[in-house]
Amino acid sequence: MKMSFDEGRRDVLKAFGIGTGLTVSGILNAAETKLSMPSSKKKARIVIVGGGTAGMAAAARIRRAAPNSQIVMIFPNTQHLYQPGQVFTAAGLYKSADNIRPTSGFLPDGVKWLNESVLFFDPESNSLKTDKTGKIVYDFLIVATGCEYDYEAIEGLDSSLIGKRGIASVYLNDTAKGVATGGELTQRWFVDIRESAQKRRVKILLCDPETPIKGEGVSLDMLFLCNDMLKGNGPLEGGSLYKNAQFMLAKSTDLLIGNRGYDKVLKKRIEAEKNFSTLFSHRLISVDAERKIATFETGGIQKEVSYDFLHVTPPMRASNALRDSPLAAYEGRFKGWLDVDGKTLRHRSYPNVFGVGDTLGTSYGKSGGAARDQAIVMQDNIAAALEEKPLPAKYHGYTTVPIRIRYGREILAEYDERGFDPTFPLDPTEPRWLWWQIDLHLMRWLYFNMIMRGMM
Ligand SMILES: Cc1cc2nc3c(=O)[nH]c(=O)nc-3n(C[C@H](O)[C@H](O)[C@H](O)COP(=O)(O)OP(=O)(O)OC[C@H]3O[C@@H](n4cnc5c(N)ncnc54)[C@H](O)[C@@H]3O)c2cc1C
Repeated sequence: MKMSFDEGRRDVLKAFGIGTGLTVSGILNAAETKLSMPSSKKKARIVIVGGGTAGMAAAARIRRAAPNSQIVMIFPNTQHLYQPGQVFTAAGLYKSADNIRPTSGFLPDGVKWLNESVLFFDPESNSLKTDKTGKIVYDFLIVATGCEYDYEAIEGLDSSLIGKRGIASVYLNDTAKGVATGGELTQRWFVDIRESAQKRRVKILLCDPETPIKGEGVSLDMLFLCNDMLKGNGPLEGGSLYKNAQFMLAKSTDLLIGNRGYDKVLKKRIEAEKNFSTLFSHRLISVDAERKIATFETGGIQKEVSYDFLHVTPPMRASNALRDSPLAAYEGRFKGWLDVDGKTLRHRSYPNVFGVGDTLGTSYGKSGGAARDQAIVMQDNIAAALEEKPLPAKYHGYTTVPIRIRYGREILAEYDERGFDPTFPLDPTEPRWLWWQIDLHLMRWLYFNMIMRGMM
């Protein structure tokens, strides 16, 4: 079988335990960046919309791939969020403010930033419209607008209820405003659960939506860490209370995460905890916050489940400007998301448009690790597109899902469309102290200093 340059490079690196991804793998990945050198001397106007993980990592790489081009980034957020840090904030191990940096510090040299929002895309005229400048034209467009939350899609729920009446959502943030409150509100939720479990038995319900989501392992993190906190671990004081807590995890499919191998391992771990239960193929449709009742749709019927505490992963959708534009898929499972070829990341109808990050309408996982891998693909493909050559690099759906199995232990689930894709030659299904330590103490630094600068 013939391998592309990109595939060959990854396999060689893997033989030395060097792979890809936001999490641990990036530590050793500086070598990969040095090998990824294709560039074009052509002059073009390249516009990147979105300045999150994907947009910024791609911008740094595109700067190198197209040194003579004019590169313009458009995004409104003056603050950048390290979103995985919200989980450690909930766990009581990070302060929210430490997950935030000024966005201007990440801008690659020679890249112009328009601190604006795109209102709509008009790919027929190779242009878009922003809220301040108005019409902006491009030769190439990279869409990296992430995703937005849609709490309101669940009847009775909206984001103002998070942090009230026993409801938490560690996800709560606004990447366009650079504000995150989900971590601290969920930390408070942990404390409230602990206080309640001191007095009585408590029922804790965690729900994932049916839409594509970012951070696939996050509700599992909340499940395992909250239970472990009740066992007396983590920063909260006090003895073991977990026997007073009944956890229920509801998923809209029959899977815990999008890879059957890891799913099997995680299901066994859940079965091993006497106070855990699961509801599969249950779609949360409404929440009665007063009566503390969640209603699910399952197999054509509605089912009510009462709770004392509720954690919600919000339904997610592509950003407003993209959803109704000609760039979005107009039907099917990925309706409203960016309509790209999942391998080359090129738009299916507009060949001068590409996409990276959570906004992609593909079946692959949405994570910072995925965004980082896609930025590498983008570097090679944009150089080729400028030269009007076939696109050499392919994305295979690599994603990373760290699962904090308890305080001090983490499973580093890495996979792509071909199966497990571990960076290191260690059993990837084993929870390890090492992954936890790297994640907690090193990863945020690597993210801000290396990944966001397209250096690993
Ligand atoms: C709680 C939580 C935990 C997570 N844990 C992990 C983890 O452990 N590991 C991991 O790999 N990933 C994790 N993720 C996922 C990861 O953070 C995202 O997948 C990643 O940040 C996606 O990057 P992005 O650039 O696509 O989107 P974002 O980083 O969200 O950026 C979107 C950008 O688009 C801009 N934008 C939006 N609309 C417009 C517009 N109309 N005009 C101009 N700009 C616009 C925004 O301002 C922003 O700059 C987690 C996420 C959350 C919320």
